[in-house]
Amino acid sequence: MTPSNVDAGVLRTLHRIHRQLGDLQGRLNRLPKQIRAVEAYVAHQEELLKTATQQSKAVRVASDAKQVQLKGGEGKVVELGAKLNTSASNREYQALKDQIAAQQMTNSVLEDEILESLDKIEASRQTVAEAEAALATARKKSATVHSEAESQTPVIEADVARLQAELRECEARLPAEAREPYNRVIRHHGDDALAAVQNQFCGGCNQHVPLNVVAEIMLKKPKFCKSCGRMLYMPEDAENEE
Ligand SMILES: [Zn+2]
Repeated sequence: MTPSNVDAGVLRTLHRIHRQLGDLQGRLNRLPKQIRAVEAYVAHQEELLKTATQQSKAVRVASDAKQVQLKGGEGKVVELGAKLNTSASNREYQALKDQIAAQQMTNSVLEDEILESLDKIEASRQTVAEAEAALATARKKSATVHSEAESQTPVIEADVARLQAELRECEARLPAEAREPYNRVIRHHGDDALAAVQNQFCGGCNQHVPLNVVAEIMLKKPKFCKSCGRMLYMPEDAENEE
């Protein structure tokens, strides 16, 4: 190999390193997103529990108010009953009887409502218990995501550092004349800057690569896809057929 030759093995390795770095960077970028998502989930469950607790309290307060109301109504019936015994006229007696009947009807409706509210209280307690359990699950999940992110981050970062060192070493093996176009294509395409030529087609954009270009790549010249600009190389199997 003369110094200006672009070795296919070097390009293959560069492509592999860039893809691995891109993958690792993607994983690093996803970790904070996963943390934000699980924290939002916990906050949502906290909100649901808060609402359930407030509703449960409101149901109890309403039920207590009806109990007080019923007690008052029962007192009223007793009071009216006492007046009944001392009524001066038939008319007054009948009027009191009617009032007692009306109050008893009101009390009966209240009793039904109180029974219903006891069911509501039980149901709202159930809802609160479920919301508490859901929140506990969400917090547990959050702790897992946090600890996984904490343990994975240094591992991924170490892999990134190792690959970057490998990348620099590999880039140093590119001939001087290929450096500048290589750097340009990396700036433009990032970790997707190289492409293997598969049966005269660019592996990056699937456009046709003319035979004369393929021939030049075989001769280890730095070549780029006319369509997408990616730096082209021959895959291992094609090279072995030479
Ligand atoms: Zn292409």
